[in-house]
Amino acid sequence: MLNFPKKTLKFIKRHLLRQQKEVEKNLKEVSEDDPVKSPALAETSEPGTDSYIADTHAKTVVLEQQLRNAKTGIRAALLKIKNGAYGKCEKCGNQIEIGRMLAMPTAQYCVSCSKKKFNPPRR
Ligand SMILES: [Zn+2]
Repeated sequence: MLNFPKKTLKFIKRHLLRQQKEVEKNLKEVSEDDPVKSPALAETSEPGTDSYIADTHAKTVVLEQQLRNAKTGIRAALLKIKNGAYGKCEKCGNQIEIGRMLAMPTAQYCVSCSKKKFNPPRR
């Protein structure tokens, strides 16, 4: 049984919803800034700016991927709040420290599991 105080959970949920809105907005802006996806922008660029377009496109792709990942994480966290599984480590099933969840509301693993995940033991 997870013992997140209701108030804390509510606070985190509000924070996540706000973050979700922000990410959606950024995603829209990013795709509008992509010269490859925006013919108007590509047409107005002068000859010889192909590399500029390619550069901008490459950056956009990276940013878009990051935003999509953030969106997925937020959605998963909101779903877990709904299901009452929020704050549970997806690896060991222990409750993740509240402080960690507040600092990183989309955290999926507890501190020790995420350490294991990102720093695998050397062979
Ligand atoms: Zn864990």
